[in-house]
Amino acid sequence: MQISRRAMLAGSLAVPMTAFLPLRAWADDHGTDLTPAQAYAKLVAGNDDFVAGKLRPAADQASIAGLAAAQNPWATVVCCSDSRVPPELIFQTGFGELFVVRNAGNTAATSQSLGSVEYSVYKFHTPLIIVLGHSKCGAVEGATAVVQSNGSAVFPGSIGPMVEPIVPAALAARTLPGDPVVNGVRENVIRVRDRLRSPEQPVLFPPYRRGDLAIVGAIYDLDTRHVTFLDPIPSAAH
Ligand SMILES: [Zn+2]
Repeated sequence: MQISRRAMLAGSLAVPMTAFLPLRAWADDHGTDLTPAQAYAKLVAGNDDFVAGKLRPAADQASIAGLAAAQNPWATVVCCSDSRVPPELIFQTGFGELFVVRNAGNTAATSQSLGSVEYSVYKFHTPLIIVLGHSKCGAVEGATAVVQSNGSAVFPGSIGPMVEPIVPAALAARTLPGDPVVNGVRENVIRVRDRLRSPEQPVLFPPYRRGDLAIVGAIYDLDTRHVTFLDPIPSAAH
C-alpha cells in the first residue's frame, strides 16, 4: 500500500513518526547499575515496609526536578489497572524508579503493552520485569465467567477483547482444585511471565538468556498487602 506524504502529514493514518527513528539512537542510555537480584531484593524490602506500615515520604521537589533530564528505572512492572494495586506504593518506591505497564488483567497481550515492556528493557536496560497479578482481580473474574458460561457471557465494547487473553488461564484453572479465580490469577501471571521469557521475544530474550534480565511472577494479596513472589531471587544466568 502506498502511503502518501500528505496522508501521513495530515495524520489520517495512525503511523507514529517515532516508528521511523533509528532505534540505535535509543540504546545509548546507561540505565541502572542494579543487578536483577538487587532489584528483586529492593522490591521485596519495599513490600515488607509497606506491610509493616513503614511508609517513606513522597519524593522531595529537588529529586523530582532532577528526573526531568533523565530516568533510570530499575524494574519494569506489568500490573493490573485495579485502583487498589498501585505498584509504587505497594513496593514503596518513588518517582523514576518503576517503569509501569498497566492494563486490566496484567496481560501484555497487545503490541502496545508488550512494546512498552520491550521499550523499558531496550532503552533503560531494566534488569527485572515483574508480572504482578492480584487477588480478586475483576478481569480474571470476567474470564472465569466466560469459561463457566461456556462462552455465553458477553461484555460491551472492547471489554470482551480485553478479557480474551485471560480465558486460556481461566480454562486451565478450571481443571485445578480450589477457587477458580484464585487459580486463574496465578495461571494468568505464569502464562504472561512465560510468554515474556519466550525465545521468540526478540528484545527480551537475549538479555534474559544472558542473565542481565530476570522475569518473575508475583501476586499481591489485597487483604494482607503482601506480595508473594512465584520465583526465587534471580541467579546469574538462565
Ligand atoms: Zn485486576
